[in-house]
Amino acid sequence: MTVRATPRALAAATVALLTLGGVAACSDAGGGADPDKVDVVAAFYPLQFLTERIGGDRVTVDNLTKPGAEPHDLELNPRQVGQVVDAELIVYLTGFQPAVDEAVEQNGGDRAFDVAGVAPLRDAAAGGHEHEGEAGHEEESGGKDPHLWLDPTRLAAVGDKLAERLGVVDPDHAADYTARAGALRAELATLDTEYAEGLRTCQRREIVTSHTAFGYLAAHYELEQIGLTGLTPESEPSPQRLAEVAKEAREHRAGTIFFETLVSPKVAETIAREVGARTAVLDPIEGPPAEGDYLTAMRANLQTLRTALDCS
Ligand SMILES: [Zn+2]
Repeated sequence: MTVRATPRALAAATVALLTLGGVAACSDAGGGADPDKVDVVAAFYPLQFLTERIGGDRVTVDNLTKPGAEPHDLELNPRQVGQVVDAELIVYLTGFQPAVDEAVEQNGGDRAFDVAGVAPLRDAAAGGHEHEGEAGHEEESGGKDPHLWLDPTRLAAVGDKLAERLGVVDPDHAADYTARAGALRAELATLDTEYAEGLRTCQRREIVTSHTAFGYLAAHYELEQIGLTGLTPESEPSPQRLAEVAKEAREHRAGTIFFETLVSPKVAETIAREVGARTAVLDPIEGPPAEGDYLTAMRANLQTLRTALDCS
């Protein structure tokens, strides 16, 4: 369903944008832009992955979040703001990185593609492990959970929309973008099937995580997430929250407490010691994985989950 009602009007608008972008690009804040390619800025790794896969050799992608950096609290330097100003397309997620939201608001114009707008986001607390009197887990992001990329079917839907947007910016290659989005959609459907089958027969379904990044994954595969902190990783859990999580981990006989690649494992290790559990890495894929790509990291997470939850 990528056919637009008024391609001529869109193409005219795109020419106007490209003209503006071309003038701005002379300031060279984007650095090394190839005039033959579409200059895209992606806010963080999963959006970079998506843009590179769907854009192929027609795009150059700058990721605003450098490898090893934790993307939630990203600050933009002047050069990166220049990249946002010069880009022909900005791929970002409202409510995830306040600095990017602000830069897009000030400089994005209609070059910005907000992936949060593709499908309604989950409420932060929806489907979470809620108890009466428990509060303070939906304080960030206006109560919406931004971590949509951890559900591969949602990422596929975002990919289709991204292909449409790239086709507007670069109409000559619109069919290529659609085709590549279709190919990626097929790969994500395979991954989805592996998850559904791999997690069908588990002894336990509760996952104790560091920050509550896995709400979409948990909802889609009928797991239950017990998060030590809220939607952003920087907050230290209170002693009260640590005690609650330890109690739940015991109740559910959780054998594994998960920690993340970009955040200190200290708290997870404390809980694990207290309840006699192991620790393991469950990657929220907020940054590029050490090996491979998004699909590799998702498959590694699946193996980790299968071991931790005793799925035979
Ligand atoms: Zn997160």
